[in-house]
Amino acid sequence: MTDYDFDACVIGAGFAGMYMLKRLRDAGFTTHVFETGDDVGGTWYWNRYPGARCDVESLYYCYSFDEELQQEWEWSERYPAQEEILRYCRHVADRYNLRADISFSTTVESAVYSDDTGLWTVRTTTGGEVTARYLISAVGCLSAARVPEFPGLDAFRGETYHTGRWPHEGVDFTGKRVAVVGTGSSGIQAIPAIARNAEDVTVFQRTPNYSIPARNRPLDPAEQAKVKADYPRLRAEARMSSSGVLAETTGKGVFAVPEDERRAELDRRWENGGAAFVAAFTDTMLDVEANEVSADYVRGKIREIVRDPETAEKLSPRDYPLGAKRICVDTDYYATYNRPNVHLVDLRTDPLETITRTGIRAGGTEYEFDAIVFATGYDAMTGPLNRIDIRGTDGQPLRDKWSAGPRTYLGVATAGFPNLFIITGPGSPSVLSNMIVSIEQHVDWIADYLEYLRDKGFTRAEAAKDAEDQWVGHVNEVASATLYPKAASWYLGANVPGKPRVFMPYLGGVDVYRGICDDVAGSGYKGFLLQ
Ligand code: FAD
Repeated sequence: MTDYDFDACVIGAGFAGMYMLKRLRDAGFTTHVFETGDDVGGTWYWNRYPGARCDVESLYYCYSFDEELQQEWEWSERYPAQEEILRYCRHVADRYNLRADISFSTTVESAVYSDDTGLWTVRTTTGGEVTARYLISAVGCLSAARVPEFPGLDAFRGETYHTGRWPHEGVDFTGKRVAVVGTGSSGIQAIPAIARNAEDVTVFQRTPNYSIPARNRPLDPAEQAKVKADYPRLRAEARMSSSGVLAETTGKGVFAVPEDERRAELDRRWENGGAAFVAAFTDTMLDVEANEVSADYVRGKIREIVRDPETAEKLSPRDYPLGAKRICVDTDYYATYNRPNVHLVDLRTDPLETITRTGIRAGGTEYEFDAIVFATGYDAMTGPLNRIDIRGTDGQPLRDKWSAGPRTYLGVATAGFPNLFIITGPGSPSVLSNMIVSIEQHVDWIADYLEYLRDKGFTRAEAAKDAEDQWVGHVNEVASATLYPKAASWYLGANVPGKPRVFMPYLGGVDVYRGICDDVAGSGYKGFLLQ
């Protein structure tokens, strides 16, 4: 008999929450999941905007934990579209009967730890309350969609959409004048797709991004079979790579390669498509001049593709290194600006003044629209957790503890919050990796940890403050040795006014990070206080 409802309560039913449920259930822990949406899938449930697609190749953007599952699922394209990934998530939920332990349309509002009982009390929007020994966050890094507080936001009488909260029934833009605000990964995917249907599209750009063509294509069955036959080796290599993706590199610094070969290498990668472009040389993310070679190459491509030189210049990033903001992968993005129905407004020279009843005023010009699409991103990494009232020992709110930036041990636990585990939390490789690889690593590590605690008779595991301080110092040190902090990116919280500027993901690499986590586990979980 237990004096609580569940051994573990998991928040979120995306890739992380689904696998966490399966692992804990298999290990004999009673587990319950709460999910805001009315089905599984997380990111791929919410992001139904036209053009939504994964940047990691489909054969690697899927679970590896079950050999039968990875063999039976057939992907149709090199890069999977949102709809196909969602179908895959539903298949996984059906296959392992996961929905039986998930409450949908239920948002966790608060989770409070009691020192007396050693339990978490979790309250939801449906008025329910459960107690659990362990609280596991699977809320995702990019699930707290946000629209900046533009003046006049509520004045607009037309339709408004956020890419990350797209209507399930889809949107028909035929014959409509559409504004797209934002040119990050989502905007870059959505703009060409919307432009194909809408009468007119005006893009409002604050920061131009570097984008590499996806070269998406149908997957050849023979190619798929070949990868599947070699899955054990390929998956093992991906786990021990720095980004969780098998990206071939020359293994050389840019300037160690003669100029003509350098150009040929970048040409080859541009033609092949995808984010592997950034992995061409070993120093691209370490040295400003080395980075400039790849950055300049992309600017050259933009000039080649976009016919109007002024538009090409506006689309060319010049003030931050390539890759320091999330690299974009697109289908026809730059070429879309050659269409007569697509216009670009550069908010740096023509600032957005206000949203009006009929559209947007920027740089003194009034633009009229039937619909505004906000591709304005997320309060990344900490946003979804900070939206929940999480309280640890002595009632301390997590939001307060993290008010100067997130502090974690290994990105997975935080001092003062016993028995709370955060999948792909800040301080872990997370968004700088193939997230499925990072999710599986965290879920396996957490499940093993809970089994260890059960076997040893412990009921309380808390990150030690000094271990956390050391980890935070290490995460910062690694980041500061790279070019990543040189861009005002969401990795740094720079897209949210007032958010502390702390580089959140761990840049040491998926391989190195896994080694550290395994070492901590092997040592009987050093850095944790166990009772
Ligand atoms: P999510 O999929 O975000 O799921 C979290 C779930 O938690 C959501 O369903 C949410 O509703 C729920 N939730 C949050 N708070 C609460 C609460 N309080 N109560 C109840 N439920 C809650 N990653 C890659 O590796 N490669 C890519 O190419 C890639 N492309 C992306 C493109 C887009 C447009 C976006 C937004 C993200 C992309 N990502 C990509 C990152 C993607 O989020 C991860 O790959 C992966 O889907 C994360 O899974 P998750 O389960 O951790 O989080």
